[in-house]
Amino acid sequence: MTALELIALANQVLFIGLFAAVAWRALRDPSGTSLDIVLLFGSVAAIVIVGLVADRLDIAGEPWTVGISLLLLNLAPLAMLRLVADFSPTPRGMLVAAYVAFAAVAVFGFVGIASAERLYEIVTIAWFLGVGGYAAYAFGIAATQARGITRRRMTAVFMGALLFIGAIVSIFIDALVEPPDLAIAGQILALAAVVSFFLGFAPPAWIRRAWREPELRRFLQRSMQLAWVADERRMVLELQNAAAEAFGAGGASIGIAVPERRLLRYATRDGSWVEHPDDAFIAGRAFTEQRRIFVHDAGAADPEHAEVYQRSEAESVISSPITADDRRLGVISIYAQRASIFVEDDLWLLELLADQVGVLLESRALAEVEHAVTAREEAARLKEEFLSAAAHDLRTPLTVVLGQAELLERRVERDPNAAVDAAGIARLAREARRLGELVTQLLDAQRLEQGVAAIDPVPADLRDVVTDVRDDLHERGLDIRTRVPDEPVASRIDAPRIAQVLHNLVDNAMKYTSDNVLPDVELEVVDGDARLAVVDHGLGVPDEERDRIFERFYRASNVQSITDTGIGLGLYICRRVVDAHGGRIWVEATPGGGSTFVVSLSLVPSDAPEAEPDVPPTVSGAEALGDA
Ligand code: ADP
Repeated sequence: MTALELIALANQVLFIGLFAAVAWRALRDPSGTSLDIVLLFGSVAAIVIVGLVADRLDIAGEPWTVGISLLLLNLAPLAMLRLVADFSPTPRGMLVAAYVAFAAVAVFGFVGIASAERLYEIVTIAWFLGVGGYAAYAFGIAATQARGITRRRMTAVFMGALLFIGAIVSIFIDALVEPPDLAIAGQILALAAVVSFFLGFAPPAWIRRAWREPELRRFLQRSMQLAWVADERRMVLELQNAAAEAFGAGGASIGIAVPERRLLRYATRDGSWVEHPDDAFIAGRAFTEQRRIFVHDAGAADPEHAEVYQRSEAESVISSPITADDRRLGVISIYAQRASIFVEDDLWLLELLADQVGVLLESRALAEVEHAVTAREEAARLKEEFLSAAAHDLRTPLTVVLGQAELLERRVERDPNAAVDAAGIARLAREARRLGELVTQLLDAQRLEQGVAAIDPVPADLRDVVTDVRDDLHERGLDIRTRVPDEPVASRIDAPRIAQVLHNLVDNAMKYTSDNVLPDVELEVVDGDARLAVVDHGLGVPDEERDRIFERFYRASNVQSITDTGIGLGLYICRRVVDAHGGRIWVEATPGGGSTFVVSLSLVPSDAPEAEPDVPPTVSGAEALGDA
């Protein structure tokens, strides 16, 4: 046996083996694409078989045997073109033209070969170069656009197609002109082609595993980083991106189960969630039936949402339920305009990703439980802290109130007609009021801390707040000086809360100024922000404590011995209120001594609308699928 014969024999065996492999796959998972792959290798395998049978029966040279062989051979480029049409948009006209041309070449093969052999050979070369070449080109383009294992398989198919065309063309050129002797080159090219086709269409498991690994690893790495992203919606969006990328697909969606309401929620890009019944869409079907679903034509499979799929360019959809043990956590879907011709890889990969997402969701759920426990513990600790502070700080005024009340009581007992002790009653009332203030502060601080005190900012003129506070103080006999601009100072504020802040700052200014000098209140616009300042000439705040005085229960070192009428909650409340407005509060030294407390709030443009209208979230096509 010559080397040429040996290679030719190897080719025959390999092509038949390849045919058997793809036929077996098509039987297990029949689809248009798998049948076209069978057609491609079936045609080549059939040539081999026809040749063997013809040899046996000694009819190898008969015109109709030759005709059948040529017909089968020319079927290969046609099958390639059909494959191209399976995964990329191909004009129908082109396909029809190819069928007509194929029929013409086939008829020519039966009737004309004897009389015009050379012409036939030229036609075959043209047919392979034209139709086969176009298909190879399309495979090449698809390879550059794909990612992951699909890219590698597609590249192998592209190489296979090129080599196969090269082989056939060399064999025919060899028949057409001699020398050169191209027969051996043709067989070697055919051998390389069959190996490439094997890698592309029927790669062994170990090669697939190696090819898939980089994408899988990348997805795992990214998803592990996402596990601790606080915002669940953002995590889902990122996971979707990572999944779509791993597939090189148009998009991905992840629906998270809300079992008690039988819903699936999908993250949207505009910062919200959309909810759908848990059996809606193909994803919903995969979720409720707890099985993997693959559809070539989403519109046909789920006509109710056909328009949504079309808008999202989601013609081919694969969905897999996400579960952990037997808990149904959600569903993940990948969609693309056309199904990959290697969809079996996608299905496999999707299951792996679904498992990984399941692990992620489970660990988040666990972390949330832990978080809730910590939050409960923190709340309990806070309560205790407030209680002990309250017990301590309320005791002083309470002792005074009680002592004074008992004193008055005893007096009245001794002498019911004695003159009213006005000073004693006034003291009683003052301390009781103070007691009331402390209790209010404690409750307010606790509610702000726990986020249950509603702050409701609406557009308002800050000058009005200053005027109202000034008038209140005036009623108490305190004539403070205020300075406000002539123009309105529009900001979004909860006016009673900002007034509370101002009152607090003014009260402090008086409390921490020894000679009863009243502070000034100034409102101005600085660098596009409203600035409200309370300027006093009192004790001042030590530099290193300027930040700390805004902490809960913190009192500066220079005041502790001077006054015992505070518990260090006033500024904490102020900071919380200002924070809730998105503003800032700080203290500066007043030139010449004292402190200046400044509250800075952003302005609203004068032409801004009153409030943002409540638009219900619109569901765009992609969003309905939880667009990535
Ligand atoms: P309280 O006045 O009840 O102690 P605050 O939270 O209102 O609590 O104030 C915290 C601390 O900040 C005060 O104890 C004091 O040390 C300091 N402080 C607040 N306002 C002034 C001021 N105008 N001048 C000097 N120190 C001040």
